[in-house]
Amino acid sequence: MSEQEYTAPPTPIQHDPRVNRPSICGADEVEPPYPIYMKGPVQHGFKRGSKDLGCPTANLPDEAISEYTKLLQTGVHFGYARVVLGPGEGESDQVLPMVMSLGWNPYYKNEKRTAEVHVLHDFGKDFYGKELRIVMLGFIRPEYNYTSLESLINDIETDKAVARRSVERPAYQKFLKDPFFQ
Ligand code: ADP
Ligand code: MG
Repeated sequence: MSEQEYTAPPTPIQHDPRVNRPSICGADEVEPPYPIYMKGPVQHGFKRGSKDLGCPTANLPDEAISEYTKLLQTGVHFGYARVVLGPGEGESDQVLPMVMSLGWNPYYKNEKRTAEVHVLHDFGKDFYGKELRIVMLGFIRPEYNYTSLESLINDIETDKAVARRSVERPAYQKFLKDPFFQ
């Protein structure tokens, strides 16, 4: 076959959601089942290197999640959070954007869920035992299995950026003033 006769096959369309991720998630208005409110004292988790990944996640107690187990999809969600701190810690005691991973808990044979919240703020210290209040406002993505640490870190960074942009819309910003946080 001569060079002129040969036509290269078309490039397959890239459908991998990990590659072409949207930069903003959810509709312009907050849609059911959101908003979903949870609160409870921050628990210790398995310390699975989330701080090394630049993403410490504050764990909510089981009781905070249990009533929503059937309602919610496993994966990464976004919304707002407040860590209720003592006097003199005011700067970090604000309503702030958050990303939250909702997963199955292997410790309970995957019958229970875990809710882990990364607040988009530099607290400079731990806040175990403090009350964490959150409102979930939208879904970002399902859980993926990772073959490299680099792709996991990339996705976490994308999640944070998506969450920041997603809560900036007016219908979402209303929740900054929600009585639940006061
Ligand atoms: P664990 O397995 O105990 O949850 P992590 O490595 O996930 O440990 O760290 C979570 C802890 O880090 C939280 O409980 C909290 O005290 C602290 N922390 C500090 N900054 C943040 C933040 N921006 N978001 C969430 N947790 C934070
Ligand atoms: Mg954690």
